[in-house]
Amino acid sequence: MSVDAVVVGAGPNGLTAAITLAAAGRSVVVLEQADEVGGAARTAELTLPGFAHDIGAAVMPLGFASPAWRDLPLGEHGLEWIAPEVEFGHPLDGGRAAIAYRDVERTATGLGADADRYRRMAGRMAVDWARLEPAVLGPLLSIPRHPVALARFGMKALLPATTFLRGAEDDLYPALFAGCAAHAILPLTRPMTTSFGLLFVALAHTTGWRYPRGGAGTLSRALAGYLRSVGGEIRLSHEVRTWSDLPDHRVAIFTTGPPALAAIAGDRLPDRLMRTFTRWSYGPGAFKVDYALDGPIPWADPRLEVAGTVHVGGTLAEVTAAEQQVADGSHPEQPFVLVAQPTAGDPSRAPEGKHIAWAYCHVPNGSTVDMTGPIEAQLERFAPGFRDRVLAKATTSPAGLEATNPNLVGGDVGGGSHGGLQLILRPSLSLDPYRITDEIYLGSASTPPGGGVHGINGYRAAQSALDGPLR
Ligand SMILES: Cc1cc2nc3c(=O)[nH]c(=O)nc-3n(C[C@H](O)[C@H](O)[C@H](O)COP(=O)(O)OP(=O)(O)OC[C@H]3O[C@@H](n4cnc5c(N)ncnc54)[C@H](O)[C@@H]3O)c2cc1C
Repeated sequence: MSVDAVVVGAGPNGLTAAITLAAAGRSVVVLEQADEVGGAARTAELTLPGFAHDIGAAVMPLGFASPAWRDLPLGEHGLEWIAPEVEFGHPLDGGRAAIAYRDVERTATGLGADADRYRRMAGRMAVDWARLEPAVLGPLLSIPRHPVALARFGMKALLPATTFLRGAEDDLYPALFAGCAAHAILPLTRPMTTSFGLLFVALAHTTGWRYPRGGAGTLSRALAGYLRSVGGEIRLSHEVRTWSDLPDHRVAIFTTGPPALAAIAGDRLPDRLMRTFTRWSYGPGAFKVDYALDGPIPWADPRLEVAGTVHVGGTLAEVTAAEQQVADGSHPEQPFVLVAQPTAGDPSRAPEGKHIAWAYCHVPNGSTVDMTGPIEAQLERFAPGFRDRVLAKATTSPAGLEATNPNLVGGDVGGGSHGGLQLILRPSLSLDPYRITDEIYLGSASTPPGGGVHGINGYRAAQSALDGPLR
């Protein structure tokens, strides 16, 4: 059998690439090594029966906002987005917390002496976001449609978050922003970490940090269901190890990392790209704990109970120190911990009155150190009595993450380090970073706009093929 396109990987990007092609009338088959779709967007009972945990992504600030999905009838295939009452929160010692609501004014009011500073920054981002979105979520070398808004964003975005936050008078605003900037998985003293902070603040105040009812798996099943409805085929338990594992095709879209693509494509890649791809550098890994809880997390600041996401790590200086230690190859005693608590808005995820949460921290790539103790010490610090609520837990090391999904090399959740030039040259300097050759395309988190559950990378790789050989 010959198809127009074969897609390797049935994560959010692979499914989206396939949908884009199938909806345009092209024949497409998706090959997935796992026995279910979703990649790092899957849900499973990792602890106790009736507790539905996300094995990877939980909250998807770019999912609801995704230009790749907003026009798809995913609701007809079971997807429903939950908008949390609090987009995200960031506790500090003394029972205080910075709370990000959808409303800029309400958020700013809680930030003490920095209220005006926040109002100006976040208000500007919320207004500019619609104009900025195509440029921020697209390839680096594209022609901006709104150069003034982009220049205004770019001048700030290039800065290290620590520089951007200089002059803040209180500790709440810097902590709130640091939690967003730390999604870069880089020390906050590095250039461009501000871009992550601005992006996540803009999303909080526009479309919100939403998540799918039932868990990430509901989104992936909705994508797969829609794909099948437009004629796409998905083959599970089908690992692609060599080129001969691919059916006859006109184009092959990979949603793997660049090194995996290089190993499979071999001398089909130009020498320059072969060198770049085999030298691709992976960033820190993640150590993750999933909790089944007897009740909600007992945050010292009770407003955090209804937040979908909580950034746990203390002040800007503490978050900066923790991420620096990870970059230096060590394990922070007080890590920066990302906490997702989906049952705050979706009680269907656990038996009545019970809750789930995941918490993960960054660790050096491939680390074998058990970080459960430091993660729980941070949770106890801001939620005294947390440990008493734990009914069961499941830990996943970087190697454990990679075992569920070969894209998570050494536990890297972002498809490759954001350090050096890799943040902007994903996977290499090109006007069309998705087109590798006339036959081979790459649409994984290792292309713009990077990691996260939004499908944009896959969508753009498919568009590139539709503009080229599949026209
Ligand atoms: C612990 C964790 C927490 C995260 N939290 C969030 C979050 O809260 N919000 C958010 O937006 N993002 C989060 N992410 C990141 C997000 O999940 C990823 O960026 C996103 O899933 C990338 O999508 P993808 O389709 O490119 O790759 P993946 O989701 O990794 O899917 C790739 C698929 O390809 C398959 N595959 C790989 N190689 C082969 C092969 N050779 N043959 C066949 N199949 C193959 C894999 O099995 C996998 O199913 C998290 C990730 C992890 C791991």
